[in-house]
Amino acid sequence: MSAHGVLEHYQQYLPLTEKTPRLSLGEGNTPLVRSTALSQETACEIYFKLEGCNPTGSFKDRGMVVAMAKAAESGARAVVCASTGNTSASAAAYATRAGLTCAVLIPSGQIARGKLAQAYVYGAKILAIDGNFDRALELTRELGEQFNLAIVNSINPHRLEGQKTAAFEIVDELGRAPDILALPVGNAGNITAYWKGFIEYANLKKSARPKMWGFQAEGAAPLVSGKPVAEPHTVATAIKIGNPASWSGAVRARDESGGEISAVSDDEIRAAHAYLAAREGIFVEPASAASVAGILKKQRAGKLERGQTIVCVLTGNGLKDIDFALASGFRIETLPAETDTIVRALELFSENKFL
Ligand SMILES: *Cc1c(COP(=O)(O)O)cnc(C)c1O
Repeated sequence: MSAHGVLEHYQQYLPLTEKTPRLSLGEGNTPLVRSTALSQETACEIYFKLEGCNPTGSFKDRGMVVAMAKAAESGARAVVCASTGNTSASAAAYATRAGLTCAVLIPSGQIARGKLAQAYVYGAKILAIDGNFDRALELTRELGEQFNLAIVNSINPHRLEGQKTAAFEIVDELGRAPDILALPVGNAGNITAYWKGFIEYANLKKSARPKMWGFQAEGAAPLVSGKPVAEPHTVATAIKIGNPASWSGAVRARDESGGEISAVSDDEIRAAHAYLAAREGIFVEPASAASVAGILKKQRAGKLERGQTIVCVLTGNGLKDIDFALASGFRIETLPAETDTIVRALELFSENKFL
């Protein structure tokens, strides 16, 4: 694949015209890394799709580049979105790239600071509202209609078109679809987009389709309970959503693929986050760990058949939410700058085979 981004690489599968600007920050073409620890533990062939390697650190860039290019093509001068964080970071970057103004509505006090910093430095107009994400999305819809602003949330179909390219990459790299695709589910745009991508590729290349396994956080699991959650709560802010915009798309992906959408607890998310970092060398944001939390949970319950090929989508980069990473008892002691002291301090670890 070329380094020119998803618009160039997958143009034949995207709704582009000659007039669509070929915007790119080098999104897509993310690594598919084979798991060592988790593969061994489950006796499955497990891969991680590192979506945190996209230009703004999450998969949102794949869809944003298409949505922003189409907004620019249509003559829009400004875009607006509601965000749990990553959408605002991505929208702000691509709006700058396209020469558009960007406004983002965020639930006050509920955005990981790395994401906020991104939206800020890229120059978005950030509006924090006294309400949750679902309310921010309602307001965004109203603003979009009243003032003719382009909405770049995943209710914009161009977002899903771009995001489906991740499914293409997985099939292109593995040479076939995995047996299972595991991913976190919040507003449910991504599970909808992946399913669309797998279906399109299956129709063209006659490849099989995976089972779709979506994981929500227990405190924000409307697709598991079957009804909206008025006050969603979870440490995984990117999936803290009570009324997913792509509800029907998620249900279709689940049912047509013979898959399922289930819930993992915040403690399971924390444990999977630590497992990925300490056992696999991969640092993700908490929402991303939900896919691995789900696989570990299945394994413990004896519900994971051996020998399957599974791709876990790791949706976002760990550096976005360092407050979460440091919350679990991070402590560091400053020593005198002397060799002896340092050697003694290291020897403390020698029983643990540090030296
Ligand atoms: C947006 C996001 C999700 C959830 O994706 P949906 O399309 O809303 O289901 C999960 N993880 C990260 C890191 C995200 O940014």
